[in-house]
Amino acid sequence: MSRLATAGDVLQLIRSGEGATRADIGRLTGLSRPAVAHRVAELLRRGLIVEDADGPSTGGRPPMRLRFNASGGVVLVASLGASRTQIALCDLDGQAIDRRDLEIDVEQGPDAVLSTVMDTWDTLLAGQWVAGVGIGVPATVEFAAGRTESARVMAGWTGVVIPPIIAARYPVPVFVDNDVNVIAVGEHRRVYAGELDDLLFVKVSTRIGAGVVSGGVVLRGALGAAGEIGHIPVRDGGGVLCRCGNTDCVDSVASGTAILRDLRAKGRDVRSLADVAALVRAGDAETMAVVRQAGRWLGEIVASAVNLLNPAVVVLGGDVADMFQPLVSGVREEVYRRSTQLATRTLRIERSRLGAGAGITGCALLVLDRVLTPDAVDGALI
Ligand SMILES: [Zn+2]
Repeated sequence: MSRLATAGDVLQLIRSGEGATRADIGRLTGLSRPAVAHRVAELLRRGLIVEDADGPSTGGRPPMRLRFNASGGVVLVASLGASRTQIALCDLDGQAIDRRDLEIDVEQGPDAVLSTVMDTWDTLLAGQWVAGVGIGVPATVEFAAGRTESARVMAGWTGVVIPPIIAARYPVPVFVDNDVNVIAVGEHRRVYAGELDDLLFVKVSTRIGAGVVSGGVVLRGALGAAGEIGHIPVRDGGGVLCRCGNTDCVDSVASGTAILRDLRAKGRDVRSLADVAALVRAGDAETMAVVRQAGRWLGEIVASAVNLLNPAVVVLGGDVADMFQPLVSGVREEVYRRSTQLATRTLRIERSRLGAGAGITGCALLVLDRVLTPDAVDGALI
């Protein structure tokens, strides 16, 4: 290291597994023994590391082994969907310790929704140190400011700067991102990291949105609107009026809402997407045909995204993932027809493996990637 290693740098070495003993750290950093001891003591006092005596012995007293202490604090997370929200407490590895799934209509607006979220965290917390807060919202987010921008839908959230609202009750770093971005990050890091770095996550629930991980990092675009594919029109959608005012947006013909509407129009008694999923599992031909057609429309848009981004995997998630078979058939049909041969040569189209947990994980990583950097740790220790 060119500069003198700090406590934050030492934590990084311990977290990554490169440095497991004081001697390792001395060798890796070039710090003197007293300097290493001082930084390790700081991290121990802070609860960010623990030590135990089960290190490999080289004769004599076994060296104390240093470990990152994932239980040394918590991250408060909330993954808000249009109608359902997961609220959780995660440890410093991003694993959920406790979680609540609530039916919350985001259209109630930020005051009501964020109050409910914070009240829920209050009930989950038991005096732990809070390292930060991570929130995913179903809106376009100007990431640096944590400002939601979503003029056409969720009108009550337009221009709302979320971090100060949260920080008034929890004075810790607060990060806000688009819901599908955090899901894409969660799925990438927990399922595909080390294997591939380019992933397109398409969430099909009440609405349709996408999150792009390119070269291992989430692609947000100039205004945070990258991945907002819901209002791209499809061809031959039949002239369906979308809630945005245009016709035949993929959202208006292929979302969970659209699938329910189309089945009801055929006289089917379906109250929820769970009903539709049950019909798909039972092999109901009419339902399979409706879902497959939705998949084709979705595939049209995904094909363009595949040409543009060349992902290694397209992951389909959201409520409609429970209808994966007919949906993915439709998507595949269009993607292989419309995307270039090169882009599809090794392309995989898979179902989300984390499900609703991806949002929780992604929100936690959103925070941990920032509050556990050497600079952030050193700032918090002072
Ligand atoms: Zn639209």
